[in-house]
Amino acid sequence: ENTQLKDIISHAKEYGFVYPSSEIYDGLQAVYDYGAYGVELKNNLKRLWWESMTRLNDNIVGLDSAIFMHPTTWKASGHVDSFNDPMVDNKDSKKRYRADVLIEEKAAALRKEGKEEEAKSLLAAMGKLLDAEDLSGLRDLIINEDITCPISGTANWTDVRQFNLMFSTQVGSVAEDASTIYLRPETAQGIFVNFLNVQKTARMKVPFGIAQIGKAFRNEIVARQFIFRMREFEQMEMQFFVRPGTEMEWYQAWGANRLKWHKALGIPDSHIRTYVHDKLAHYANAAMDIEFEFPFGFKEVEGIHSRTDFDLKNHQEFSKKKQQYFDPEVNQNYIPYVVETSIGADRLFLMVLCNAYTEEEVAGKMRTYLKFHPAIAPVKAAILPLTKKDGLPEKGKEIFDRLKYDFNIVYEEAASIGKRYTRQDLIGTPFCIAVDHQTLEDNTVTIRHRDTTEQERVSIDELHGRLGEATSF
Ligand code: ATP
Repeated sequence: ENTQLKDIISHAKEYGFVYPSSEIYDGLQAVYDYGAYGVELKNNLKRLWWESMTRLNDNIVGLDSAIFMHPTTWKASGHVDSFNDPMVDNKDSKKRYRADVLIEEKAAALRKEGKEEEAKSLLAAMGKLLDAEDLSGLRDLIINEDITCPISGTANWTDVRQFNLMFSTQVGSVAEDASTIYLRPETAQGIFVNFLNVQKTARMKVPFGIAQIGKAFRNEIVARQFIFRMREFEQMEMQFFVRPGTEMEWYQAWGANRLKWHKALGIPDSHIRTYVHDKLAHYANAAMDIEFEFPFGFKEVEGIHSRTDFDLKNHQEFSKKKQQYFDPEVNQNYIPYVVETSIGADRLFLMVLCNAYTEEEVAGKMRTYLKFHPAIAPVKAAILPLTKKDGLPEKGKEIFDRLKYDFNIVYEEAASIGKRYTRQDLIGTPFCIAVDHQTLEDNTVTIRHRDTTEQERVSIDELHGRLGEATSF
């Protein structure tokens, strides 16, 4: 594993952002818990996304649909039949891999050796086999390319099988009534099946959107790379319903809109890009990813897909309930087309954490800090009395009480001021407010800025306004 990622993972754990789930039992693979600062950061990201969808667009409303859905939902959506990844086991190490990922890694290794053409033709060969669902062909490719298991070092592979990524469980208390239901692998289907409920009750006119944040579950075969690929994660999806024939304009507009959003979070242009797919999923007529340069390379953070009328049409067919909209402007009934924006809250979290993680040498010493945009920083300010006496703690608490209703702030009086600054740097607090003897005389405090470590003197009365300005977009 890459050392920068390792540093970020241990920082996240040590400073209360992300812990492995059930750690006292040695953890559960690809499942994670968020600690004191992690949950604040994640909530800030979710709120920001929610507000930029539902408040900035008067034609987007929210929804909170259940994780469990009628099992037919997943037949209609295609997930029962085709939400699969090709899986292969190494007989010596008993480790399980995704056949396509093994081949992609081989191609990446060839690229590193400068064998660009070989890498390309390997990926092309894999693409053909995947399209044809030729599983034995995939196994032959793995063997011909002499791909070995990173653990055992051998090429002793089983057959390649399709593996469905949906988790299932039984609903119903007695065996005879029990039936198999799934934990949703995406939040989108809850939006599709509620399309008419929302359209009618919120009196929406096409074009309009429905936004939702919620848990999704995928039994990922390759579950490495920390919170990049989890088995339980949170999605933030927005399905935008449009008149057929206008979907390409909306697809372009949403792609541009979402890229701008990421840049507003402080992601530099050099670390973010769009990748337009030429190979499309069965439901899409156009798709692009927004990719961020993680320590392990450029990878998808968000997908923007033009899903046509695939989902609504299939739900109409399976449910036998019309999924049509009457458009008064063109005097026509139709099944709307859908453009979706789909992002994982956890993957977004990892992006902003990687982007914020900074190691700098200052006067021969390393300084580590998290340079979050103040709007998403878990703690906005720390109130720090210089000493524990002379009335400074009382004054500090008074400031704390004035600000705490509107900002997530902390009050700390233990340890030296330098140590307290360092601690706030490590959790990414943009402002430290120091209360000293002068404060008692003239009602001013020092604000110390995280990124520059510069300090300035401001009046206590200005603090609320200053924080408000700095923590909004
Ligand atoms: P990938 O190719 O990385 O598996 P995907 O193309 O299957 O992703 P989508 O189905 O388009 O992903 O899901 C939309 C978004 O949900 C992704 O861009 C990602 O941010 C997030 N996401 C998907 N799977 C996971 C996962 N296992 N863990 C965390 N986030 C995920």
